[in-house]
Amino acid sequence: MPELPEVETTRRGLEALITDKEIISVHVYIKKLRWEIPTHLQRSLKNQTIIKISRRGKYLLIEFKHGKLVMHLGMSGSISVVPSYEPIKKHEHFELKFNNSTSLRFNDPRRFGSILWQENGEQLKVLRNLGPEPLSYEFDNNSLYNSSIGKSKNIKTFIMDSSIVVGVGNIYASESLFLAGISPKRIAGKTSKNRYKILTKSIKKILTDAINNAGTTLNDFSDVDGNPGYFSQVLSVYNREDMPCIRCNGKIKRIIQSQRATYYCPLCQH
Ligand code: ZN
Repeated sequence: MPELPEVETTRRGLEALITDKEIISVHVYIKKLRWEIPTHLQRSLKNQTIIKISRRGKYLLIEFKHGKLVMHLGMSGSISVVPSYEPIKKHEHFELKFNNSTSLRFNDPRRFGSILWQENGEQLKVLRNLGPEPLSYEFDNNSLYNSSIGKSKNIKTFIMDSSIVVGVGNIYASESLFLAGISPKRIAGKTSKNRYKILTKSIKKILTDAINNAGTTLNDFSDVDGNPGYFSQVLSVYNREDMPCIRCNGKIKRIIQSQRATYYCPLCQH
């Protein structure tokens, strides 16, 4: 599943390729993704110029003067920019053709992704109630602690809640807790301010490293199956059940929390 670093890498790639481009036509090959692609886009985006590409959590926002195209990659989505003459491939459901003979194409085999429209002045439901961006100043040493007061869920589920902080997916949650030396089983509301400070730093570092790493392998964004792959990033605990901990040589454990796999070292995380 594409996580925040992959989405941010896609954003940077798109920013370089399609900012200031004018759309000459919009093509919807399959309308039904997670939700239906709005039919008015063919009219409302024609002859419009892309002003900016931004990101909110795992949503990519392609900004125009009258509103934003809001895209989510879902479980298996990816976006490419190719010469418009290239034949449409299987699973390419949506295309924006630009005035420089290139096209943005949205590919999504499992169709859990989405393409929505947000008119200026309105806010889509999916973008409401989102917590701060993990790499922003707004997400500071006090953010997690302040939101944790009274919370009885475990800390791993807590940091994966997008109303608390956006973009900390399953892999990065395990990795950040390992780096911070905090057990994923710890209760969110019973964790000290100082430990949240360390965890905040860890989340920022893990995500920044992943984005930097992703940037160097941008051309390999899709793996051989055409799925957006995880970059050849070094993971410290994730997917390493029964393997030696890189810090203490103890055995990495795998447990299930909120239906998701969690990996941790019982010896150095407490
Ligand atoms: Zn260890």
